[in-house]
Amino acid sequence: MINLNEYGWNLEYKQDIKQGLIPARVVEVHRELYKVVCEHGEVNARLKGTFYKEIKFDDDIPVVGDFVYLQYNQYGDSLIAKLCKRKSKFSRTDFSGHAAAYVKTIHEQVIAANFDYVFVVVSLNHDFNINRIERYIGAAIVSGAEPVVILTKADLNSEYEKYVNELKLQYEDIDIIAISSKTGFGLEALEKYLNKGKTLVFLGSSGVGKSSLVNAISGEEIMKVNSIRDDDSKGRHTTTHRQLIMLASKTMVIDTPGMRELGMWDAGDGIKKTFDDIEELMEKCKFSDCSHKSEPGCAIKNALETGKLDEDRWKRYLQLMNENNFVKQKSAYTKREKLINKIKGR
Ligand code: GDP
Ligand code: ZN
Repeated sequence: MINLNEYGWNLEYKQDIKQGLIPARVVEVHRELYKVVCEHGEVNARLKGTFYKEIKFDDDIPVVGDFVYLQYNQYGDSLIAKLCKRKSKFSRTDFSGHAAAYVKTIHEQVIAANFDYVFVVVSLNHDFNINRIERYIGAAIVSGAEPVVILTKADLNSEYEKYVNELKLQYEDIDIIAISSKTGFGLEALEKYLNKGKTLVFLGSSGVGKSSLVNAISGEEIMKVNSIRDDDSKGRHTTTHRQLIMLASKTMVIDTPGMRELGMWDAGDGIKKTFDDIEELMEKCKFSDCSHKSEPGCAIKNALETGKLDEDRWKRYLQLMNENNFVKQKSAYTKREKLINKIKGR
């Protein structure tokens, strides 16, 4: 009998328990076929008919990492009857034609859900790019999880401390950790994130050392490491094809093709896209310098009240603006430029 708490299930969700339904976590999705883990172990599942009917938006569909309620069937496919509220998610708003036929309105395509930490992985050699780091951190904060910046291949860069310190100045509240999967350097600093029941995702370009890092923290060869490898997921995992992987330490890693695509976004407007709707709303406020707090005719306030704008999303947007200088202001821009120059040694 599996204890779902080990998969990150927590008491918060218990109040949702309905008669005859048991909690489960999605570990794999192949089109309409799901693999979920529940107290009876890993089982195959499909969406229940009544669940289909209630789907309005793309984000109503369960994805890897989601907690769901299951009508368990010991003889065949179990049925997913309910999706639990997500505490974090990555989604794509600008996707191209993957919408399932039963989705009535295209809204956002969720890629992964309910992860605790986003490991922002950047290599200390050629890949190092402040804009990219900032964009990844932004995406992580938007997701609702905690970002941790990991600078890989420290063994290849004798000046790694300089990078760490500069980033620490810029991002006071975010952990910045230099490591080497090759020598094991710095890995102990990651231990506090590798707790039982916690779920990790990795954001980072191809080749920065994500697979090597997963192997290093798990102590097993879970991922195939290859410098000349296709970017699609085929044959990537050596010991498993799971999309939600349970490490020996009981920490989980979500690794799906969609996650990897996210890591390859072009530096630049990923964040803006994520918040296009909010910025559009802001343009509709009566006053152009609206602070969206108490002004009359505030489109944001109105959208929050009518539920058109999700309160959590709005909070994340504000958080992002505050913590990471995403503000379109000169001061923030100059600060970033300065940092880039400092790091480049100018
Ligand atoms: P991924 O595409 O982000 O998963 O990157 P991989 O883990 O496949 O690594 C890409 C290449 O970088 C491989 O050739 C690894 O051997 C190499 N690599 C990964 N981590 C390190 C490290 O800490 N030090 C050094 N020198 N090379 C590394
Ligand atoms: Zn306003």
